[in-house]
This record gives sequence, C-alpha cells and structure tokens, in this order.
Amino acid sequence: MNNIGVLMTCPMSEYLENRLENRFSLFKLWNHSSPKPDFLKTHSSSIKAVVGNTKIGADANMIDSLPNMEIVASYSVGLDKIDLGKCKEKGIKVTNTPDVLTDDVADLGIGLALAVLRKMCVCDRFVRSGNWINGDFGLASKFSGKAVGIVGLGRIGSAIAKRAEAFNCSISYHSRSKKPNTNYKYYSNIVDLAADCQILFVACALTEETHHIVNRKVIDALGPKGILINIGRGAHVDEPELVSALLEGRLGGAGLDVYENEPNVPEQLFSLENIVLVPHVGSDTEETSKAMADLVISNLEAHFKGMPLLTPVL
Ligand code: NAP
Repeated sequence: MNNIGVLMTCPMSEYLENRLENRFSLFKLWNHSSPKPDFLKTHSSSIKAVVGNTKIGADANMIDSLPNMEIVASYSVGLDKIDLGKCKEKGIKVTNTPDVLTDDVADLGIGLALAVLRKMCVCDRFVRSGNWINGDFGLASKFSGKAVGIVGLGRIGSAIAKRAEAFNCSISYHSRSKKPNTNYKYYSNIVDLAADCQILFVACALTEETHHIVNRKVIDALGPKGILINIGRGAHVDEPELVSALLEGRLGGAGLDVYENEPNVPEQLFSLENIVLVPHVGSDTEETSKAMADLVISNLEAHFKGMPLLTPVL
C-alpha cells in the first residue's frame, strides 16, 4: 500500500503519523512551504484518503480539490468537521473512532463534575500557596446522590450515566427519541431536563440542530446552584451566555473540556473559582490515542483491501 497517497490534515498523534508513514505514502498538510490550495493541487491525483480530526476534517473545499479521494478516516468520533452530505454525494466513504474513546471521555466528564463540586483545583492552589497554615479550606458541595441530566444518551452519555449511577445519582436525559432499554427518565424538552437536574452533562453529537442547544433558557433553568459539564463540542453551548451567567452568578459552576473557538477561551472565565477548564483532552490518554490510531489504520487497510470497514459512518 506504500504507493497509496494519504493526507493528514494536521498534527494529531506521532504514533499515528509513524504508522501511516510506514504503510502509505503520507502527505502532511501542515508540513510544506507552498500555500494549502497549491499543495492540494500539486498532489491531488495521488491522494486517495484523508485522515482528519476535531480541528481539521474534510470540508467541501478539500473534498472538491481531491478528485481521487475514496475515504475520510477521522481520528475522532465526532463528525462535525466532515461535510457528510458532500461525501455521500461523491460516494466517498467515511469512518470514525467510536467506542475506543468512550471510557476516557466519560471518566473526564465525571472528573470535571467532581472537580467543580469538590473545588479540587482551588484546593490544590490553596495547599501549594501555603495558605493552609492560616486556616482550613472551608466546605465544598457533594457529588454523590445529585440529580444528573444528560444531553445525548449515546455511547458517551450512557457511560456517564453508568458512572453517575455508581455515585447514587438519579439519571435523566434528553435526546431526539426515548431510549427503549433504559429506566432513566426521558425529557423531550432540554429546558425541563435542566430545570429538574443539578448537574447537566452535554454529550450529544454536534449538528445544526444541537448548535447552541444550551442557550440562555437552558442555563437559567439549571440555575444558580446548577453545574454544567461540557465534554461534547464547544458550539453546543452559547458561550457568551455561559460567561455572563457565570459572572452574574445565574449558574452555579461549570466544567469545560470544549470551547466555541478553540484554542481561544474567554478570559473572563480565568478568575472564576467555580469552574474547571481543561484543553479538549477528553480522549487524550496514551492508551486511547493508540487505540484510536490503530482503528484509523485498520479502517484504511480494510478499505484498500476491498474489505468491509470496521467502523463505517458512510
Ligand atoms: P453517539 O453514540 O453517536 O451519541 C450521540 C448522541 O447525540 C445520540 O445519543 C443522539 O441521540 C444524540 N443527539 C443527536 N442529535 C440530538 C439532538 N438534536 N438533540 C439531543 N440529542 C441528540 O456518539 P458518542 O460516541 O457518544 O459521542 C458523542 C459526542 O461526544 C461526539 O459527537 C463528539 O462531538 C463528542 N466527543 C467529545 C470528545 C472530547 O474530547 N471532549 C471526545 C469524543 C467525543 P438521539 O439520536 O436519540 O437524538
């Protein structure tokens, strides 16, 4: 397969890069001196596959400029950076990396909720600053037993629910349809879910419908004692509304892995103690990044051997 051209859209994993380099003829979109359109034009006839991620996937321009592209293999489960309509129209196959990252993202979601409620980052700074000598830290808020709401009861949402159940939390959820195999309480309306829970986890897919699904109404329904945890995508949340709700005390706190304009994060958040911010690292563990890379490679190999894809989207 060494003569098959594969384009990586941006740096994502050294391990994946090495494996791609050993197996295929690898083009790196970021690693050349000519402007991107010129680079794509020069190599368009050789490139048969694109490997993208949450930063750069395959948009309409890229798809149009690569007429021999047969497959987009995403090093992510989210598909929001891929023009699926265009891929379908052109008969381009699409794969992603579901399941292998579910545990990590759910773990981080629970970790963020614990960190916000138990003020773990503030505690850490308190100890490091030497302030403990001057008196005890004070009280935080309990996680166990709280009412948890989940937006999107898919793979990651269900894994969060399972973990939260072990903390004796009650579980409710909102998605487009009620799930048949669960006793969790279903809300067809996200505002009602937010009003009835204490911690709201966002774990749905980012689509036109779910863009800003967490708006001012949802934030106000969650209220001054409510906590928002976003491990989905930044654009699920109306960020200016989130910032003003936190600054005005209309929302109790937030744990965020994702932001609307990554890697830019609203600076007004930096001084707040009731939030925990991490830099889109939901699936970024040694173990999971390797498993994701292996799945990307296996999907590409299956495609070019004419075998069924392991995790097909299209
Ligand atoms: P999944 O199994 O496909 O679950 C997505 C869920 O979104 C489905 O249960 C779906 O439920 C729900 N959904 C879709 N449209 C909706 C709508 N309009 N309103 C409410 N819910 C809706 O995907 P997953 O593997 O759990 O991943 C979920 C998302 O997590 C990904 O798309 C990605 O954006 C994000 N993610 C983030 C990280 C990170 O590093 N932070 C890592 C991996 C994934 P219905 O079909 O019933 O509506």
